Amino acid sequence: VPISNIRNFCIIAHIDHGKSTLADKLLQITGTVQKREMKEQFLDNMDLERERGITIKLQAARMRYILNNEPYCLNLIDTPGHVDFSYEVSRSLAACEGALLVVDASQGVEAQTLANVYLALENNLEIIPVLNKIDLPGAEPDRAAKEIEEIIGLDCSDAIHCSAKEGIGITEILNAIVTRIPPPKDTAGGPLRALIFDSYYDPYRGVIVYFRVVDGTVKKGDRIYFMASGKDYIADEIGVLSPYQLQVNELYAGEVGYLSASIRSVADARVGDTITHYGRKAESSLPGYAEATPMVFCGLFPVDADQFPELRDALEKLQLNDAALKFEPETSSAMGFGFRCGFLGLLHMEIVQERLEREYNLNLITTAPSVVYRVNCVDDEIVECSNPSLLPEPGKRRSIEEPYVKIEILTPKEYIGSLMELGQDRRGVFKEMNYITENRASIIYELPLAEMVGDFFDQLKSRSKGYASMEYSLIGYRESDLVKLDIQINGELVEPLSTIVHKDKAYSVGRALTQKLKELIPRQMFKVPIQACIGSKVIASESLSAIRKDVLSKCYGGDITRKKKLLKKQAEGKKRMKAIGKVDVPQEAFMAVLRLE
Ligand code: GDP
Ligand code: MG
Repeated sequence: VPISNIRNFCIIAHIDHGKSTLADKLLQITGTVQKREMKEQFLDNMDLERERGITIKLQAARMRYILNNEPYCLNLIDTPGHVDFSYEVSRSLAACEGALLVVDASQGVEAQTLANVYLALENNLEIIPVLNKIDLPGAEPDRAAKEIEEIIGLDCSDAIHCSAKEGIGITEILNAIVTRIPPPKDTAGGPLRALIFDSYYDPYRGVIVYFRVVDGTVKKGDRIYFMASGKDYIADEIGVLSPYQLQVNELYAGEVGYLSASIRSVADARVGDTITHYGRKAESSLPGYAEATPMVFCGLFPVDADQFPELRDALEKLQLNDAALKFEPETSSAMGFGFRCGFLGLLHMEIVQERLEREYNLNLITTAPSVVYRVNCVDDEIVECSNPSLLPEPGKRRSIEEPYVKIEILTPKEYIGSLMELGQDRRGVFKEMNYITENRASIIYELPLAEMVGDFFDQLKSRSKGYASMEYSLIGYRESDLVKLDIQINGELVEPLSTIVHKDKAYSVGRALTQKLKELIPRQMFKVPIQACIGSKVIASESLSAIRKDVLSKCYGGDITRKKKLLKKQAEGKKRMKAIGKVDVPQEAFMAVLRLE
């Protein structure tokens, strides 16, 4: 089709508002995917995504659509919906001219949607409001439309009423995509510039690059050049995503597709890089994406030291798919060889850990996440520290600064009190509160990122019965009165359990943490003291009493299968344990500090 008949668009929606269901229906109605081969939620093709029901990695799909006898080519680029992944969203927006804003008409506008809509407006995207789930008895499309108009300032007189589930309003949406979203600019004559928005590693074909051609054209067999890495390759396969990979000979400005070029090194074709021709280079590269900044860091250690090289391999492969993942080697006397890894947030961290274990068969211990502290030392040096056990000694430091975030919470009014208590409890500074409609309010707090890293999001959800939503952004560093809290088990300092806490909270954290560790660490053949210390001062202490008898003693004389079962159970429990001195410490203990009452 001519470029004037191409439309590139994405869908912006809060989690559960129906983005995947709508995407599925669009693919189905345009005949892109036959009904019988339709798995539910086609675009979320990572197992983890389907299980958790969220979109983590963006995906793309091309659809054919005919309106008034004109054939159109519609490229849908999927976007993630979770608060940790707005960085991925900005990547997909840069490849689109328009967006569907899907709002659940029974819920209304959510905070995370707002952040993404603002991003889309900054990118000059044409936004089409879609009020979804009108089949629900509780749906109030007019109220949702009014919220969109009041909060975002978007005209909703042409908003489309839809039920993605029942298939109502889908044709109207397709027609609106064609008539309201502008086609890409025709720059096919210029030197090639294509923006890489995603990539992954295929063991047979090497790195597969997803890109949008912004200027020029690219053909199979072309010698291409990656402008940031300075590497060149022959494009031996070019294609479109329909949504399966389908080979074509040439892609033009405005089109979205993939290529493979036997690229072996993950660093040669980074997301955000610009592809041009080796023989006819573009003058300048396209504006790349803002580099993702990891917000939290943790240690990842193989339970079995032999798995260290496999862990490094796996991290390198995951990083190709996930530019936000950062890592460097870390050695700890307690844990052995591993990696210090940086993540966008806690969910990102959990997902990476799960993928490492499932897809790469690794058995890992993860240490509690930490933010990056900035330590002003007496010798005027500034030390950035993302590992509490490496915090410079008290005598060496003049002050410690920690990252602060601004958070905006949207909530029904009945939960305001409980959510403000949460903000206060997490060292938050209350900024403002506004009613956006009669029943819903926006609350703004500034608070230390470290206080948000743990169970803040879970608390927000449970205190509001799931109705509140939030978004956050980093606002810079502030000085705080912080101390390092160490844990000793059986008289030995366990470095990975050290944490940095506010002085006023040190005692209560120390007490809660030792109690929690006492619950989590299995009893040993001997008595095990568990102590929390600041420097050499013990501030809280518990002790684990010894087991009197061998576990198997209760089976003496019993039948052998029962004994085997018991041993098997013990072995399974051991899998995720790390021997610290003479004591086996389970995975949960390393995360205990995140979930203290
Ligand atoms: P996503 O998180 O935005 O991708 O949302 P999903 O597409 O996974 O939908 C979340 C839930 O809402 C699922 O249980 C869907 O079946 C349901 N859902 C989606 N669209 C509709 C709709 O139009 N009507 C109703 N009643 N339920 C819907
Ligand atoms: Mg989804």
